[in-house]
Amino acid sequence: MKILLSNNDLNEALYDVSNLGFVPTMGSLHKGHISLIKKSLKECKKTIVSIFINPTQFNNKIDFKKYPRNNKKDMSILKKLKIDFLYMPKVEDIYYPKRKASIKLKKKDKILCAKFRKGHFEGVIDVMERLTKKIKPQKIYMGEKDYQQLYLIKKYVQKKYNAKIISCKTVRDNNKLAFSSRNILLSKYELTQARKISKEIFLLKKKLSKSKNIKKLIINKRKELIDSFNIKFDYIELRDKFSLKVSNKVKNSKLFIAYFIKKIRLIDNF
Ligand code: AMP
Repeated sequence: MKILLSNNDLNEALYDVSNLGFVPTMGSLHKGHISLIKKSLKECKKTIVSIFINPTQFNNKIDFKKYPRNNKKDMSILKKLKIDFLYMPKVEDIYYPKRKASIKLKKKDKILCAKFRKGHFEGVIDVMERLTKKIKPQKIYMGEKDYQQLYLIKKYVQKKYNAKIISCKTVRDNNKLAFSSRNILLSKYELTQARKISKEIFLLKKKLSKSKNIKKLIINKRKELIDSFNIKFDYIELRDKFSLKVSNKVKNSKLFIAYFIKKIRLIDNF
């Protein structure tokens, strides 16, 4: 595994590489990331993983500061997986020369996390464009866990560059909780709560397919979860999985949730 710490390192290493799979991450690697990496290793001749905690996608400075950082452990995981390249750029490597991002989301895309985390996806799209331009991968592996991110990157980035976005299934623990780097920030008790909430949402999705009053069931479950777990929702919405429009039928739809346990914001879709 070659560790690339600058753009020079990156250019030298990728000089004559073709059939390259790219897995962008913010580190604190878990089984979700590992499944993306394994897919790239299987499908591509070479695999590059990036670890870059992108400041421009955080709409809250404290959240950026508190985001988990575990480079040593990450490096040992990646070494064992036998990836070809690990790219760990500094902020200057990505944002020099400083250019103000001109990314603007269309009005119809300002939903779900785009509505509640102002500027977040503009930051994500900007950094993904910059990384894709530099790395020039054939394929980019991204998780359905961040479904709206995947949807927007396909829409705003895939068309512009010659890279195919490969969507990868969400990996969950035995209790149906999706692996997430932010789970590290939860106390043991809060982790148990998050697992219980995931199970509840799974059951709700099942119930919805048999119900005639989907809207009411969702509203009631939202109230019930707030009362039982003392959480705060940004949203819990059923949306069409192709258009992301609000849906009132379960077929081809996903239930999207974003909620806070204390100050930790968790997202998922079912
Ligand atoms: P992050 O490090 O959180 O920016 O995530 C890097 C990539 O891993 C993104 O494409 C995520 O969607 C994906 N990812 C995160 N958690 C999971 C999971 N539990 N299952 C599958 N993919 C995931």
